[in-house]
Amino acid sequence: MRILIIEDEKRLAQTLADLLHRQGYTADMCHDGNTGLDNALSGIYDLILLDAMLPGLDGFSLLQQLRGSGSAVPVLMLTARSDVSDRVRGLDSGADYYLTKPFEPQELLACVRLLLRRGEGEVRTDDTLRCGDLQLDPGTFLLRCGERSVRLSRKEYDLMELFIRNQKQILTKEQLLNRVWGYDSEAEDNNVEVYISFLRRKLTHLHSTVKIKTVRMVGYCLEVENP
Ligand code: CA
Repeated sequence: MRILIIEDEKRLAQTLADLLHRQGYTADMCHDGNTGLDNALSGIYDLILLDAMLPGLDGFSLLQQLRGSGSAVPVLMLTARSDVSDRVRGLDSGADYYLTKPFEPQELLACVRLLLRRGEGEVRTDDTLRCGDLQLDPGTFLLRCGERSVRLSRKEYDLMELFIRNQKQILTKEQLLNRVWGYDSEAEDNNVEVYISFLRRKLTHLHSTVKIKTVRMVGYCLEVENP
């Protein structure tokens, strides 16, 4: 996955690039609107992080020209202003999502994952994840079991996705922390326990035969009980 960062605050751009590199993404940077547009038009990017206020061409105009060229690349706009009119202007210009600075790294990464998934969704017709009687929809964060469904929060979704993608494995608290909260997060084991308990409550509500089993001293895994 290749991400373009168009941001004139060089330190912030570098921080974003480092954050994305640590998650395994390739990230390129540019610091003004005109260079940004040239790079964005190259068509090699899966996602663009776009600052609203840029020297040269501003973010809104850049986005309009990009969309005008027929590009449908997902764009996450970043702005220092939380002004509603800015937000509307950004979305009108063709932004897929909006983040107001300052934002938490985890919030940004969640948006990045969401937008990249959405991009993939155009190619794949069915990316629903399944385990036992459960279906997890990456587009809506809905967890379904038969007729019942619940919407998961981002963290709950990320945890559930990890469990389903690694159905036969035991995942340690450390793995869950690193994958869901990030390596440099200040979250602790306790956070994992809290979110596991949220998920268990939702599984009970759904009357699913899938349980999150605690493996003492090791971690957690999914278990499908015989109905
Ligand atoms: Ca700026």
